[in-house]
Amino acid sequence: MKKFLLLIAGLLCIAASAQTIAVKAGKLVDTDSGTVRSNVIVLINSEDGRIKAVGTDVAIPPGTKVINLSNKTVLPGLIDCHTHLVGDANDLDPLSELHKTSAQRAFESIPNARKTLLAGFTTVRDVGTYRALVDVALRDAIARGDVVGPRMYVAGAYITITGGAGALTGFAPDITLPWDLHYGEANSPWEVRQRVRLLANQGVDLIKILATGAVLTHGSNPGAEEFTPEELNAAVDEARKFGLRVAAHAHGAQGIKNAIRAGVASIEHGTLLDDEGIALMKQHGTYLVADIYDKEYIQGEGKRRGEPLDFLQHDANLGAAQRQNFRKAVQAGVKIAFGTDAGVYPHGDNAKQFAWMVRYGQTPMQAIQAATISAADLLGHKDELGSIAPGKHADLIAVDGDPTQDVTLLEHVKFVMKDGKVFKQE
Ligand SMILES: [Zn+2]
Repeated sequence: MKKFLLLIAGLLCIAASAQTIAVKAGKLVDTDSGTVRSNVIVLINSEDGRIKAVGTDVAIPPGTKVINLSNKTVLPGLIDCHTHLVGDANDLDPLSELHKTSAQRAFESIPNARKTLLAGFTTVRDVGTYRALVDVALRDAIARGDVVGPRMYVAGAYITITGGAGALTGFAPDITLPWDLHYGEANSPWEVRQRVRLLANQGVDLIKILATGAVLTHGSNPGAEEFTPEELNAAVDEARKFGLRVAAHAHGAQGIKNAIRAGVASIEHGTLLDDEGIALMKQHGTYLVADIYDKEYIQGEGKRRGEPLDFLQHDANLGAAQRQNFRKAVQAGVKIAFGTDAGVYPHGDNAKQFAWMVRYGQTPMQAIQAATISAADLLGHKDELGSIAPGKHADLIAVDGDPTQDVTLLEHVKFVMKDGKVFKQE
């Protein structure tokens, strides 16, 4: 009898876990076709977290759990291709890394991950942490369900020259850093290959390389080249062997072009992108990931809180140029993926960038596609992410009103589902 009851309980469990969920969408943004559809039903298998069927005439099987979003617009979960979840906008000085252990960094990143997911970003491409591999640990904790956060694709560390844009600089020369604060430091093509191999062995999802100087690094000149073309070529070639793509931080025009020619998947920032660079990006199919919102935060909040003046001056000079060059790239038809540099501004405000992308040349639908289907393409997971289609991850968000008319509605996401699990419903 006891055995029988256990069997029944087991069967009930299986029936419940195999349950189908039906989401009734009043409107649905179809990012594949760039259209908005009405009265669409999305069937989800809650067991594997995948979408089973999408359509206006999909039958809802008996016993299905129904989520009624018929007064809302449903979109695929948003993707931010440039975040630093292990990072804090209250603390932009890289030297502050010396005040904290990697364990402190890891625990501090937990609320960042939660805020990002609840803001509607179900996936992020996280492009670097000063404490190496904390991002790998966070990615895995989220994947296990221990931490609430977006699906993460991580870089593990910054591959940078000594004293470069991804290095800790500004401390006395007799200070020896722990291994994880200079894990990605490399100064020749062979050292670059070695770093790529180490990171690949640690299970990273992409390689982040710093092709030029940076804004938020002491004594760094954003316009200056750092890695040579030989080193950039080595990074892309070595990463390719492990099936990894390379994201290149690049502000200066020559560094941008060196990285494109080396075959990187994306140019991050692209601040001083010139006409030749735009032509090269089109020719190579390189994505532009331009963080054109964060200037608002850095200039406003940064000044108020007394951020280092050399950071602010760099940023003010470059911000205006970056936005104009973003507009040029959009007009030329360069591939655009949404990326914000979250961590430089407070986590969870990612969607504030949509308005800037529209102000600088994209339609709202194009900006949404940059954060969905194009971002998925840049990640190399277009078959699994970026649109609401059978077989893909059941990552769905919903807003009031029509974000293809008013893109700022995405700053107020009311519903978040990741892998068929509801994390927010207002
Ligand atoms: Zn960044």
